[in-house]
Amino acid sequence: MENAVLCEACQKNAMNVVEDTDEPKQPYQLCQQCHKRLLNNSLRPIEWYRLAVLHSPKQFLLHDDFYGEDGQAFLSEGDVIVTKEDKAPTLQDVRQDLASLLDFSITRWFLEADVIDALKQHDQQRILDSVQNRFNETQHIEVKSRMLEIAADVLGTSAAGWVRELMIQTDKELLYPLSWATASSLPEDEGLQHVLEKLTSISEKELPTDAFICMYRFRSNKILDWMESACTHFHVH
Ligand SMILES: [Zn+2]
Repeated sequence: MENAVLCEACQKNAMNVVEDTDEPKQPYQLCQQCHKRLLNNSLRPIEWYRLAVLHSPKQFLLHDDFYGEDGQAFLSEGDVIVTKEDKAPTLQDVRQDLASLLDFSITRWFLEADVIDALKQHDQQRILDSVQNRFNETQHIEVKSRMLEIAADVLGTSAAGWVRELMIQTDKELLYPLSWATASSLPEDEGLQHVLEKLTSISEKELPTDAFICMYRFRSNKILDWMESACTHFHVH
């Protein structure tokens, strides 16, 4: 077993099956048994959790048609036997340990107040370092996105340097969460200018929705003026 890569789900057996995810560069790497359970929608909660940490719970075969937020399988044909060791951790289990807490945050469908509060108990600089590392290590957009949401909701101005850098490099896929992080970490005029620049590449049809989602966290009167002039299809429902 020396040098063997372990299965991402059980973390016991050697990995010997690769199954596609939405991200070609980061497929599932599993043992045969876990692979079978993945395809049968019958992962144990802890197996679901470990895969969700790496690939996000929005990934095909992990998403909420098949599993609850605690990793319980909904559609499995036989009952999934869950012993104590097979349970996924709760927020209470992970809140003291930053790495485990970040894992947990990725497995949630939304970044909610209880997780934000738990994160705020940790050192800002350590959070920033960890969040940047995870952002760089993953290929999955959903995981990157969650790291940016943490920058937006937990880090604020302490993430300014990082967010500024990303605003220059990053493409459209991460525009929403990056805009939210921009709104909370950069000075307002600078932040708005970055976002408006990004919005110039959006089609006229998509612009009203994208502009709203990207800018609602800014509290500037300039936004309404801009909306009126830029979005000819802007309707208030
Ligand atoms: Zn396995």
